[in-house]
Amino acid sequence: MKPAPFAYRRPGSLEEALEALAGEANAKVLAGGQSLVPLLSMRLAAPALLVDINGLPDLAAIAADATGVRIGALARHADVLASPDVRRVQPLVPLALAHVAHATIRNRGTTVGSIVHADAAAEMPVVLRVLGGSVEAASVRGRRTIPAEELFLGPLESSLAHDEVAVSAHVPALPVGAGVAFDEIARRHGDYALVGAAALVDGDTVRVGYLSVNDVPTVVDLGGVPLEDVGEAALAHLEPVGDIHATAAYRAQLVRVLTERVVRAAYAMAGQEGPA
Ligand SMILES: Cc1cc2nc3c(=O)[nH]c(=O)nc-3n(C[C@H](O)[C@H](O)[C@H](O)COP(=O)(O)OP(=O)(O)OC[C@H]3O[C@@H](n4cnc5c(N)ncnc54)[C@H](O)[C@@H]3O)c2cc1C
Repeated sequence: MKPAPFAYRRPGSLEEALEALAGEANAKVLAGGQSLVPLLSMRLAAPALLVDINGLPDLAAIAADATGVRIGALARHADVLASPDVRRVQPLVPLALAHVAHATIRNRGTTVGSIVHADAAAEMPVVLRVLGGSVEAASVRGRRTIPAEELFLGPLESSLAHDEVAVSAHVPALPVGAGVAFDEIARRHGDYALVGAAALVDGDTVRVGYLSVNDVPTVVDLGGVPLEDVGEAALAHLEPVGDIHATAAYRAQLVRVLTERVVRAAYAMAGQEGPA
């Protein structure tokens, strides 16, 4: 199928992009196009205007310092995955990105686009939630920071306003002595996961985030729970859904297995044994 007709703008400055978005209520930002273009082709989205931000190279920056990693809106998954600074400052980002789609899609798709696309089956929204990261949004009204826990409203629905560009995402650095881990089960490596889990262990704090379990990325606190009980404890806070890919019971079993696996691995990175 072909997309419904739309107008196309490729601004040369962020200000121009924000004005274009402010002037058309039914507009969409085009970043890597790896999710938007299929939606257009299937006519699941029919914007009147596409505002292509690929003419704004300043948005491709990736910056890492002692406080964390800031990923610009045009940084491709492949560049973020390859960045030694990102790997050093917050290793959960590359651990999860290695599971995002296939190399060709990672070459074009953006990490920020993946976050604001808000797909509950995607890896990076969960990483942002587990780490307590945020997105910086810009519009003609100014800038604001949206914490991850306020970003994901429903399936493919974020709290970004229709006239806002997400200019960057920020994830905090891994604290000294903390550990992280990521794992997922997919039919083939690179396919969307049947279930995925990301863990952070930092002192007594144990947080695990899940993708493809509920219709938004969901985070559960498991501090103090003995390692062999973490899977069951997580399920008390989750309601796995069944669909054509997996039954709810199978997803529940994947939650049990993956939770224990990622929490053990995060404790191991932190140099701790975890509660018995
Ligand atoms: C075959 C296939 C397999 C895939 N598998 C996976 C997978 O396993 N895991 C996974 O996480 N993803 C997967 N993806 C999606 C891929 O990771 C995309 O790169 C990502 O979802 C969106 O990034 P994008 O830059 O391509 O965004 P686009 O497709 O350009 O945009 C997606 C949405 O986000 C909005 N948007 C994008 N950037 C901004 C911005 N800066 N400000 C405001 N709005 C913005 C757009 O308006 C649109 O609504 C897959 C895609 C394909 C085609």
